Amino acid sequence: MIKPPIVQPTDEVTTVGKVFTTPLVVKGKSWFPIAQVLAWPIMAWVAKKRRPERSWLQSLGVGALTMPVVLGSEWGHNLAHAAAAHIVGKPMDAIRVIGGMPLLVYYDINDETVTPRQHIMRSLGGPVFNILVLPIALLFRQRTDPDSVGRDIANTAVATNAFLPAVGLLPIPGIDGGPILKWSLVEKGHTQPEADLTVRKVDGVLGALLLAAGIVFLKKRRWFIGGLLLQLAAYALSIALGFLREQE
Ligand SMILES: [Zn+2]
Repeated sequence: MIKPPIVQPTDEVTTVGKVFTTPLVVKGKSWFPIAQVLAWPIMAWVAKKRRPERSWLQSLGVGALTMPVVLGSEWGHNLAHAAAAHIVGKPMDAIRVIGGMPLLVYYDINDETVTPRQHIMRSLGGPVFNILVLPIALLFRQRTDPDSVGRDIANTAVATNAFLPAVGLLPIPGIDGGPILKWSLVEKGHTQPEADLTVRKVDGVLGALLLAAGIVFLKKRRWFIGGLLLQLAAYALSIALGFLREQE
């Protein structure tokens, strides 16, 4: 989802495979699956919270099944970006595995040879994947017994595949919605600097809304969603105020 310049063309990386036409690379030992190691106990905690009568050992067992659903949805999202990039004939430069998760690498996000439409298609790939998985997950949820582990898996699949496109499509640079807005404007005839400025203005309004929503949730003691909204607000406002730039 996020596309920082995490590998430079000159960096020494090991190519471990190819996804469509894009090399899958690792750098040193930074591929070590930290995300999986961290997400497992978190998902065990979620499982225990949903059904407190479970032992911690049982909860860890459920977490071992739901963790790959969460992280797999993010992997699928990113591989779908790679697929979309491949389909439009503008593959990304690399996919780097870091901390067990994929990061999409574009050496130049304003690559002149990529048309606005191609930029938009690449950015849509990931969210479209989750939006397609969502109805399948909902159907699976409907067919599981509320007391079953299957329901935990289904709940996780629904939540993750709703969450990823919902956040991803926010019009903030660095996630999918930012480039979609920017390149839609360029396609309509705006220059790139004009489009960047419009995105900043939109992020100012969005940041204020996210901040207000975050405060409401924190007041209701909904710490997770409140905290997340505040983080997104800080991010959007940093873009709006020019503290954060997509690329120098
Ligand atoms: Zn994405």
